[in-house]
Amino acid sequence: MSFLATFEKLSWDQTLASIAEKGATDVERALARPTGGVTLDDFQALISPAAVPYLEAMAQRSHQQTVERFGYTQQLFSPVYLSNVCSNVCTYCGFSALNRIPRKILSDEEIALELEAVKALGMDHVLFVTGEANRMVGVPYLKKAFKIARERFSSISMEVQPLDQADYEELMSAGLSAVLVYQETYHRDSYAEVHLRGMKKNFEYRLETPDRLGRAGMKKIGLGALYGLDDWRADSFFVAAHLRYMEKTYWRSRYSLSFPRIRPHEGDFSPKTVLTDRDLIQIICAYRLLSPEVELSLSTRESASFRNHAYKLGITTMSAGSKTNPGGYAAEKDSLKQFEISDERSPGELAAMLHQGGYEAVWKDWDASYDKVPEVMEAMA
Ligand code: SF4
Repeated sequence: MSFLATFEKLSWDQTLASIAEKGATDVERALARPTGGVTLDDFQALISPAAVPYLEAMAQRSHQQTVERFGYTQQLFSPVYLSNVCSNVCTYCGFSALNRIPRKILSDEEIALELEAVKALGMDHVLFVTGEANRMVGVPYLKKAFKIARERFSSISMEVQPLDQADYEELMSAGLSAVLVYQETYHRDSYAEVHLRGMKKNFEYRLETPDRLGRAGMKKIGLGALYGLDDWRADSFFVAAHLRYMEKTYWRSRYSLSFPRIRPHEGDFSPKTVLTDRDLIQIICAYRLLSPEVELSLSTRESASFRNHAYKLGITTMSAGSKTNPGGYAAEKDSLKQFEISDERSPGELAAMLHQGGYEAVWKDWDASYDKVPEVMEAMA
């Protein structure tokens, strides 16, 4: 049993038709739901064209629900790219295997230097990112990196190739607490058009990755779509359906969503569709109304002015000072980046902006020492 069974019952075209049919009454019904009461049908209304005149009301409600659950805080993080080696060919990505670029896998010493540089930015947790190259940057390499990170950070997250459940369990024993894995697009044909070679061609294996994470008992699981590959409304709905399934099935895990829009990179790819700033605000608010608990993350792909405006409308997590190339914080200032970032402010500058807006920056996610609490309580009983 996995999300695949739910997914097979959903139709892309019927989803699009259903969203297009939504009217003002549907949007008002969705907005009148109590916190936590928004259905997937309501979600379709909230991302429909009919909801555009209600954006202000959605934004106010989203802000209020976010503050009720998360307070006036934003969690900051800086991704650490361990490698730009990739076995896959994805037409929209600078790390794609066919791109003739210098490749790099950080050594133990380079990882330590990189982590020291990120620690110096104020971070107390780390997100490791790699291309997808399981033979060269697989579980043994990741475990070595985690060992170096555990000496410096209170929690470790990763965004790497999808793995088997046993691999996730092994990495959790090595200190991993969160995994981000985006489906990119839930439209099978569009997925096949841009994922030409390598393990990532396997749509089903990727789609079932969150299930394997849930079964492994991962503390936090990140979902999302890459906007620009197909219709943003349909992809947003499929992410919402995936989230709802995961929250019900693996209710012990926490969840996060990201909304990456395709950015310029090495190579030449034109997005099939464009997600405007207004569309993105609509998606953020709709997700918040759907799920009061989900963490919503806004990356440095977005401009400083957009992030300054959007962070109060449902966002809980922001990347800051990101370098999207291996060794980018400590040494390799100019080596190839996965994509260009837009908001170049340092974490300190972002924290100061948040402080001015009445928000506090949070520099850690989970503390591995909390894992021992059940054992301690048991011993005390
Ligand atoms: S998107 Fe990921 S899997 Fe595809 S080429 Fe880039 S790094 Fe590799």
